[in-house]
Amino acid sequence: MIGVLALQGGFIEHVKALRKLGADNFEIRKQSDLDVKNLSGLILPGGESTVIGKLLHETGLFDPIDELIRKGVPVFGTCAGLILLAERIENDRSVYFGAINITAKRNAYGRQLGSFRTEGDFDGVGKIPMTFIRAPYIEETGDGVKILSRVKGRIVAARQKNVLVTAFHPELTNDLRVHEYFLKKF
Ligand code: GLN
Repeated sequence: MIGVLALQGGFIEHVKALRKLGADNFEIRKQSDLDVKNLSGLILPGGESTVIGKLLHETGLFDPIDELIRKGVPVFGTCAGLILLAERIENDRSVYFGAINITAKRNAYGRQLGSFRTEGDFDGVGKIPMTFIRAPYIEETGDGVKILSRVKGRIVAARQKNVLVTAFHPELTNDLRVHEYFLKKF
């Protein structure tokens, strides 16, 4: 059972992707939503990381989700979700879950170039379509992090232990192999 954080941003696209793959899922809006018995993964969607971060604290969801991630529940963050999972954010004072040893750079492609589509190789998956929206990229990775994809010389996907992050939005394409990767390999 995969929980999709549904406080703000593009969570519905993840729900749809999971449905297409036949993966049971539920939306997380408040603490009691986490009372499911067979939680097997979490998705943190794209949106505005500052807004999602604020809402995580206001709803009291931050601590229980932090605990789940630390316990090893597989978590997949896309775009703003990547920022929420990063140990360091180059151009933001905040750190949220700090669960993957990367430095994220918010809105890293600049205003004009921040949103684009391309194709890129994703380790273990192959060539996939990628949609970037006011996207971050990964400026630097530390020990223990496996780089999964680079586009235009920038790191755009990585994993460490139970944490998977992409700077782009696989849920906005018809190619759901990155979601499959998350469901299978974690
Ligand atoms: N620019 C957003 C942020 O900094 C991320 C954009 C997205 O999730 N599509 O949080």
